Amino acid sequence: MPSEGATILHADLDAFYASVEQLLDPSLRGRPIAVGGSATGGVVLAASYEAKAFGVQGGMPGWRAARLCPRLTFVRGHFREYQRLGDAAIAVLRDVTPAVERISIDEAFLDVSGSTHLFGPPEVIGAMIRRRVREEVGLPISVGAARTKHLAKVASQVAKPDGLVVVRPGTEREFLEPLPVGLLWGVGPVTQQRLADQGIHTVGQLAQVPGSVVEPLLGTAVGHRLSALTHDEDPRRVDTSRRARTVGAQSALSRRRPERDDVRATLSHLADRVARRLREKDLAGRTVTVAVRFAGDGRATRSWTLTQPVAATLTLTEVAERLAWSAIEERGPAAEITLLAVSVSHLTTQRTVQLELDLPPQDPWRPGTAPGAARRAVDGSMDRARARFGRDAVGYLPALLGRAGGVPEEFRELAERDL
Ligand SMILES: [Mg+2]
Repeated sequence: MPSEGATILHADLDAFYASVEQLLDPSLRGRPIAVGGSATGGVVLAASYEAKAFGVQGGMPGWRAARLCPRLTFVRGHFREYQRLGDAAIAVLRDVTPAVERISIDEAFLDVSGSTHLFGPPEVIGAMIRRRVREEVGLPISVGAARTKHLAKVASQVAKPDGLVVVRPGTEREFLEPLPVGLLWGVGPVTQQRLADQGIHTVGQLAQVPGSVVEPLLGTAVGHRLSALTHDEDPRRVDTSRRARTVGAQSALSRRRPERDDVRATLSHLADRVARRLREKDLAGRTVTVAVRFAGDGRATRSWTLTQPVAATLTLTEVAERLAWSAIEERGPAAEITLLAVSVSHLTTQRTVQLELDLPPQDPWRPGTAPGAARRAVDGSMDRARARFGRDAVGYLPALLGRAGGVPEEFRELAERDL
């Protein structure tokens, strides 16, 4: 049930990484800056609003950003500061209510229905949050308030930069209809283009199109969900008990035909990131899932549940490789892939492993066998070497070769961290 007042808030720091850089170095304030990349190469991770005005965006090659905005200043990221300042902003939200669901480093939902008697109506709470984050943390944050999570998120995007938008109960349709469909949850550039090809640009236009027209265009599931959202149906509650029940990592690829070595290098890198994070927390998981995205929007997922939980990098790589190829081969020889993702679920705590009797067969995927124990030992030494000498000090060979994405390792970790 949606709440009665506009008591679901979505708070989202503005151009977070770039704003942090401008906070740390006052000479960057008011200027177009890009975090990451350079005028000759690499990838821009984030842009300040001054740079966005020139069309500079996160994910863009540095040379292109420099061409769009000749006065652009490139800065390196301060990854520890992002974590510290993101946490500080979320702590302000937790002063308002314990009902905070953090969804990424710089954004969260709040349900303030229990706080209005203390602080006043949602618009007063939203203004207070914005003022406090600005004064105490030093960063601009936008807030949207509505009866549903989806609409609160749309409202905070409309409020950007540095604003507050409250969608009063009863005015939801009026608010949504003139907005571009791209603001709806889950409408990416591909979907947006397909809708635009049909002359559908606004939420209001989408709402008038019968489901029988939209669904063949977008697939039944997406079409159905979108039609619910355009009619402002969204039963999701603010979930404060979010805990990581899976650990995962993904890597977007430039569209390509899959090759054995290439796929192995990418999966090895992903498995390394996932397995390392499991081991850091003394966790291991039994179910391995691989997702493959194909050019043209298709996606396939494969899972395998092992008899024993695993946290060994090599084992995870091998399982992921089998799963990925099963999905790729089913798709046919012409398939092109654009993303690979690996995750592990059914997690349990694993501090020690019961060694098995040294009898054949010696399955290396089972952590208790001799080859399984050897894998654990190698991972253990690698984790210790990295703790001392840095993340790039050692690694599995295919993963080291496959790391040409141009995105710093620290940045990936920040994006994947369990909050
Ligand atoms: Mg943000």
